[in-house]
Amino acid sequence: ASQYDILVDASDNFDTKYLLNDLAVKLDKPLVYGSILRWQGQTSVFWASHGPCYRCLFPEPPKDHVPNCAEAGVLGALAGVIGSLQALEVIKLILAKSDKRWSLDESLVGRFITFDAKTFQQRSVTLQKDPECAVCSKKVEDIVLPETELAVACGVSTLDLDNWQDYEFIDVREEDEWERGYIPDATLWPLSRMKHGQFPEQNEKRPTVLYCQSGLRSRLAMNYVRDAGWDLSSVQDLPGGFAAWVGPVAQDT
Ligand SMILES: [Zn+2]
Repeated sequence: ASQYDILVDASDNFDTKYLLNDLAVKLDKPLVYGSILRWQGQTSVFWASHGPCYRCLFPEPPKDHVPNCAEAGVLGALAGVIGSLQALEVIKLILAKSDKRWSLDESLVGRFITFDAKTFQQRSVTLQKDPECAVCSKKVEDIVLPETELAVACGVSTLDLDNWQDYEFIDVREEDEWERGYIPDATLWPLSRMKHGQFPEQNEKRPTVLYCQSGLRSRLAMNYVRDAGWDLSSVQDLPGGFAAWVGPVAQDT
């Protein structure tokens, strides 16, 4: 990212947002932030040398599972509104850099905009830099970028399901769901077991696919196996889960 002047956050997940923020602080680049969830949109510009960063506002990613756009759905029109606001901020940042008549005062550096598409209520909050911020209060050489899983973007998966036999499937649903049908050769390992700290051995020879019924629990399972020390470069989840599976189905009789 170091060869670019401006970073734009168009991501749909917290891992990417925090990684982008920390990277922007480390490289001292402006980050044009945008986020939508259901009817709510947010935008701001984070630039640690001129104002607060994202972590000054939200120090840590939420602990609970937050639905991504594949699960919560996305209002395309709202994404368009917030995306256009971000594009305006990019233009203003370019003007502030290249045209003396403009300054960062016009930009959203240090301001946070929320927009409710249902009520058309719009708020602008002035942000303060947190002098104790875990990232932007540090020297750039001390900033360590967070390790992050390869997030699966909305509906886009790198799984090659035509060759589904090449994967090791782990079914993280509960037993009664498994009994109604499962992916052939899959291993049943309910999420409830992972919650209790029990994990299967990671298959070293084949990439693993975690799946559940709709794709929600398998996202959680990704976090659990990551915390259990699995190598996430060969683990993926199945977007849409078993409900979206079109391959063969096995069932115990
Ligand atoms: Zn900060």
